[in-house]
Amino acid sequence: MSGKERLPVTGAQGDLLRLVATGQAESRAELARLSGLAASSVSLRVEELRDAGLLVEEGSGTSRGGRRPRRLRLSPSAGVLTVADLGAHHVRLGLLDLSGTPLAVQEREADITAGPEAVLDWLADAFDDLLETHAPPGVPLRGVGTGIPGPVDPATGRVVGPSRMPGWNNFPVADHLRARYDLPVLVENDANLMAVGEARSWPGADNLMVLKAGTGIGCGVVVNGRLHRGRGAAGDISHVRVRTDSSIVCACGHRDCLEAYASGAALQAALAEAGITIERPADIVGLVDDAVPEATSLVRTAGRMIGEVLTVLVNFFNPDVIAVGGSLAAAEPLIASIRAAVYERCLPLATRELEIAPARAGQDAALLGGGALLLDAVL
Ligand SMILES: [Zn+2]
Repeated sequence: MSGKERLPVTGAQGDLLRLVATGQAESRAELARLSGLAASSVSLRVEELRDAGLLVEEGSGTSRGGRRPRRLRLSPSAGVLTVADLGAHHVRLGLLDLSGTPLAVQEREADITAGPEAVLDWLADAFDDLLETHAPPGVPLRGVGTGIPGPVDPATGRVVGPSRMPGWNNFPVADHLRARYDLPVLVENDANLMAVGEARSWPGADNLMVLKAGTGIGCGVVVNGRLHRGRGAAGDISHVRVRTDSSIVCACGHRDCLEAYASGAALQAALAEAGITIERPADIVGLVDDAVPEATSLVRTAGRMIGEVLTVLVNFFNPDVIAVGGSLAAAEPLIASIRAAVYERCLPLATRELEIAPARAGQDAALLGGGALLLDAVL
């Protein structure tokens, strides 16, 4: 299999490589303009990056009537990244090049309740497998990342106070993976990864809320085009108190959290009480498509509750876009009910240009976001 090496870049080299990797710059002139470095020092560093096999310059042939600008590209052999989007029941694994383009994507069954060591070691084996089968020969692994369906402390890479993840509380996920790889490691809340990936599908929108409606409920916040992590739990709406006639104790110990009513796990439990057994929350979409009234009614109520929580946030934050993803997003009444609640209760100025829509980036959103954030860590 391919080797594992840290990317050999120093100082401004990393900034220049990032500008090329993210597609912002394609020529030395653009690099100089965007980096603020003098043309001579850009050229020097481009030569160094070329010699190190990280950059290639295409179209360098002569052309009559003036020089054609040569096009800078990331070398296909510069390295690969492995990223996982770990869910409660399955994991999506991606092998990406350094510009974040997926080279191979796999989906596997996983059981997060098996505990952190078992799950992470299994995950690392799956990464190795992916590298062995799909990485171009001789191209080194440069970084490893995973999304976690719970709150992650960005300073330590530990999971803090997750729901439905027994044994994970305070587990040092980043350290555990680093011990195996000795490479830059990214550990991030799954909704945050999804938000970063999704934001790329909304050019022109600077402020987004990206809702992940799956087994749990998560939300990632993008402010001025950048992920807003806060102290690590920014966007976590799962334990906001909702107004209901009944009273349910949430996994966090408090009563009437949004998650206790409107998450996929809560809907699955409510369906079971009605005598309808499903294997996983994603199966609710099929029930709704088949017009099973209990399922449709539960999804509609969940959408209304989520929408009521979002009204506060929309008035406060005034996002351009609320994108709804996750395994429940395909249940049509969910987004319709969220829209109804938000448009009914929010200030006109806040909703006039607001778009509430299904997520656009598709199933790989979290992998794309993971690739983008991991590139920052690698450089
Ligand atoms: Zn709670």
